[in-house]
Amino acid sequence: MAHDDAVRLAEPFAIYEPDVTPVDILYGELREDIEGNRLHVAFQPLRDLRSGEMVRVESLARWSTPMHGDVAPADFIPFAERSDLIVPLTRWSINASLRHVASLHRGHCPLDVAINLSPRVFVEHGFAEQILGALEIWGVPASSAILEVTETALLTDLDVSVRGLRRLRDCGVRVAIDDFGTGYASFAYLRHFPATELKIDRSFVSAMTSDRRTEQLVRAMVEVAHRLGMEAVAEGVENEETLLRLVEMDCDVVQGYHIGRPVPAEAFVAERLAAASL
Ligand code: C2E
Ligand code: CA
Ligand code: CA
Ligand code: CA
Repeated sequence: MAHDDAVRLAEPFAIYEPDVTPVDILYGELREDIEGNRLHVAFQPLRDLRSGEMVRVESLARWSTPMHGDVAPADFIPFAERSDLIVPLTRWSINASLRHVASLHRGHCPLDVAINLSPRVFVEHGFAEQILGALEIWGVPASSAILEVTETALLTDLDVSVRGLRRLRDCGVRVAIDDFGTGYASFAYLRHFPATELKIDRSFVSAMTSDRRTEQLVRAMVEVAHRLGMEAVAEGVENEETLLRLVEMDCDVVQGYHIGRPVPAEAFVAERLAAASL
């Protein structure tokens, strides 16, 4: 378990309740909040560079607690991944994301949604059927869903992952390789993995205007995506200069603070429905 993370996050408890270990408290709190549906979803927009339209949102989990305030996903997701909480957390995340997107579809302003899937869930037998089941329950077309998977997710059991993915792909679900370029087997994955989009990691995108080699790498990644018939998506676009460079490279889709920050899904959906009814 992510003991260091947990100790850091649960420090106030350690002071007030010295008999209970911080890890136990954090674990219990997260589990209760997942079960009680007290986590939230934020939506961040992604824009198509040719049409200029918002084509989809990425769904990002948010957790705030009375004791620790807002806990960053970078802290609680790895913690959940090292415990068994990642399974209910992912189930929660899929359902919460689809619930919001379903409202948009019902309100005649449909939007695609990208959902992050953890490695642990991805190699489980039956994950494809679970996702297809959730899409059916919420009445969201399979073609409106994009699953974001990191490269490392697939290493443990490539066979199970690829089989599940093929099943999802056959039903129209799209799959993105997330944080591309940061894993250890980027090109090996590309050989076997039926993905439809390549998300170039923020660490490359944010450095590309200040470092020539990084810029060439981003250019090469966009080209690799296109040669394999995939969409190239750049994350972490924070300024106009980066955006213009990506246009020139023929990148397809962009995401980042310069395009739009993550906003609570409720507010996002309400605003879009209101704008559509004008
Ligand atoms: P990610 O999948 O790479 O998501 C993008 C992260 O970059 C988000 O951080 C987003 O807020 C941030 N971001 C977007 N644009 C910019 C930008 O222009 N500049 C900078 N500096 N950051 C930007 P967030 O929401 O803190 O999430 C962190 C990570 O936690 C995600 O990285 C993802 O791996 C994981 N995560 C978040 N929600 C979920 C979830 O529901 N399930 C799973 N399994 N993982 C999740
Ligand atoms: Ca992602
Ligand atoms: Ca990413
Ligand atoms: Ca990332």
